[in-house]
Amino acid sequence: MKKGSKVKCISTDRDQSQWGGNDSAEEYLTIGDIYTLSRDPEVHSWHTKLYLEEVPGKKFNSVQFKEVPIEKNPLCMSCGRKQTNHPDSPYCQECEDRIDRPKEWFSRRA
Ligand SMILES: [Zn+2]
Repeated sequence: MKKGSKVKCISTDRDQSQWGGNDSAEEYLTIGDIYTLSRDPEVHSWHTKLYLEEVPGKKFNSVQFKEVPIEKNPLCMSCGRKQTNHPDSPYCQECEDRIDRPKEWFSRRA
């Protein structure tokens, strides 16, 4: 988790909020909502504090959140569209098909 990471609120338990003197999740957050870290997590010996862009100036206990994985599939290197079918390829399916054409096809065009 770092600045810019997305986190989902999974608990607004009062005791968890008060642990380490954090702000009340119950008061500022909604379970299931997704928030963005406004800075890197602040690690203390018994807990970690998170700062959220959506709730400036407040700090929350990291145990009340779950990190939301960043979009895994990058954009196609050829056409720039989001590619979802080929997570291991830098190209979308369409470009992949085009690139897979026989070599003769390319030499004939050159
Ligand atoms: Zn493409």
